[in-house]
Amino acid sequence: MRRLAVLVLAAIALFVMMPAGPRQLPAPPAGLVPGLRGVIHVHTNRSDGTGSVDDVMRAAASAGLKFVIVTDHGDATRAPDLPDYRGGVLYIDASEISTGNGHVVALGLPKAPYPLAGEGRDVVDDIHRLGGLAIAAHPGSAKPELQWTDWNAPLDGLEWLNADSEWRDERAWTLARVLLTYPFRPPQALALMLDRPDTVIGRWNELARQRRVVGLAAVDAHARVGVRSLGEPYDTAGSLHFPSYVNSFREFSIDLSNARLTGDANADARTVIDAIRDGAFYSAIDALAGPAALRVDATGEDRAHLRVEAQAPGDATITLFRDGAAVASAQGGVLERDASSEPGVYRVEVTLPGSPGTPPVPWLMSNPIYVKRAPEPASPQSGAGEPGRSAARTFMTLYDGGPARGWVIEKSPEPNAAMDVIGALPGSQLLLRFAISGTAADSPYAAFVMPAGAAIVMYDRLVFTARADRPMRLSVQLRASSGGEGERWHRSVYLDQTPRTIDVAFSDFRPIGTTTSALPVLSRVDAILFVIDSVNTKIGSNGQIQIDDIRYGR
Ligand SMILES: [Zn+2]
Ligand SMILES: [Zn+2]
Repeated sequence: MRRLAVLVLAAIALFVMMPAGPRQLPAPPAGLVPGLRGVIHVHTNRSDGTGSVDDVMRAAASAGLKFVIVTDHGDATRAPDLPDYRGGVLYIDASEISTGNGHVVALGLPKAPYPLAGEGRDVVDDIHRLGGLAIAAHPGSAKPELQWTDWNAPLDGLEWLNADSEWRDERAWTLARVLLTYPFRPPQALALMLDRPDTVIGRWNELARQRRVVGLAAVDAHARVGVRSLGEPYDTAGSLHFPSYVNSFREFSIDLSNARLTGDANADARTVIDAIRDGAFYSAIDALAGPAALRVDATGEDRAHLRVEAQAPGDATITLFRDGAAVASAQGGVLERDASSEPGVYRVEVTLPGSPGTPPVPWLMSNPIYVKRAPEPASPQSGAGEPGRSAARTFMTLYDGGPARGWVIEKSPEPNAAMDVIGALPGSQLLLRFAISGTAADSPYAAFVMPAGAAIVMYDRLVFTARADRPMRLSVQLRASSGGEGERWHRSVYLDQTPRTIDVAFSDFRPIGTTTSALPVLSRVDAILFVIDSVNTKIGSNGQIQIDDIRYGR
C-alpha cells in the first residue's frame, strides 16, 4: 500500500515537472516555407565528442536536418574533410580553435599553413586571411576561461545561444527536472535549460552597429557529460552519453531561409557558408514549436519597409528591435513597419508564452537587417602584418644592413638558430634561421635579440621590413630586464614570401604573463626580441626570415 502511494506521488511529481510537448504548427502558407535546416558546432570523437562523423550524420538524418557543421577542437592544421553527403545530409567540416581570448569557430578554412593559436585578434586575422569566417563560441559561458574576451577583434559572428553555456547557469532544481523528464520528452527537457542570454545579445547589438555580425544558435553537441565534475565534457574520469546527438539536434537549429542545394557537396557547402556570412538565416528552438518559418523582407525605397511574417501560433509575439531597443510588436504572424525615418540596425525575435527561462528564450531569432545604414565591411586588423606603409613620419634607424652589432641569439636548449648578413639590393640584410625542436611541454623558442637603446622613449612604434620563406607568425617582443626575471610585452605579426613593411604600435603590445603595466614601460625596455616559438610554429619545422630597415617611428 505504501509502495503504491509512493508510486502515485512520483507519477504526480513527474507530471508536474514534465515540460509541454512541442506545439505542432500547420503547414505554412505558400511563400513562407521552412528553409534549409541544419546545426552548427558539433564535436565528434576526433576531439571530445563520443560519436564518429557517421554517427553524427545518422543522428542528423533522424532529426530531419539537411546539413551539419562539425567543429572539432584543433589548430586548423588538420586538412578538413571535403564536404560530403552522408545519408542525404550535407557534412561540412570546420574547427573550433582555442585562443588566449576564448574559443572561436572557424568556417570555410583550408588546412592552415601553421598552427592557429595565440591572441584572439591574431587568430581572427589568420582566419580572415585564409578566407574563413570567425565566430565567437559560447561568448557568455559561466565558465570564465570559456568566455570570449576580445570584442575589438573583427568577428564575423557570435553564438547568441550555446547549449554548453546554457546548462552551466542553471540551478540544481532545473537540472534535476531535465534529468527526470529527459527520458519522456528529450528535446523539451533539454530546452528547460535555455534562457534569453541578455548580456550576449546586448554585445551582439553593439557589434552589429559597427559591421555585419551574425548571431547563431549553436548546439555545441558532444553527446557526453562527465560524471565526476558534473557536466564537463572534458571529464576523463568517465562520462555518460547524454544528451544524445539526435536529441540535441531536435532541440534547436538554424534555418537558411533562401538557400537551395543542388546535390553537389562542394557547391552546397559554399552556399551554406555564404548564407551564414550574409546573415540569411534565423535560429529556431524547435523543441518549443514547429515546423517554424520566418521571413523578414525589407522592400520599397531604401529598403525601409519592413515586413515580418512567421508561421506562428496566434499567441506568439513578434518583436522588432532597432539598435537593440524594442520599437514594435504584434501578436500572431505578421508585423509591418515603415522604417524610412528610422535608420538603424533591426532584428526580430518571436516569443511564445510559457517558454522556459528567465527571461524566456526567444523561439525564433533573426539576423540584423540594415535600414538606410550600411555596416562597415569587415576589415582585416589595421597595421601589423599587412603589406603597406608605416603610419609614422619621423624615424630613427636601428638596423639598415651590415653586421648586427649587439645582437644575440637566445633559445631554449633544443632548437637551433643562426644569424647571417646576406647581400641584398641595395646593401645587405639580416637572415635569421631557425629550427624548432623539442616537446610542446618545453615551449621551445628561438629569439633574435637586439638592444633597444634609450631613444625608444621618444617614439611610439617599431617599423621594419621582413619576409619569410613560408607563411608564419613572428612574435615581436619588448623586454624590460630590470627587476629579476624581467617583463615582456608582445605583438604577433604575419610574414610570408612577400616582403612587407611591418608597423607595430607600442600601444598594440600586450603583456606576456604578469607585468606591472598593461602597456610596455618604454623607459625600462632594453631589448627588442624577434621570437619564433611553438605557439604558431610546428615543432620539428624550420625556416628563415629576412629582416631589414628596422626603425623606431612616430
Ligand atoms: Zn568551446
Ligand atoms: Zn565546442
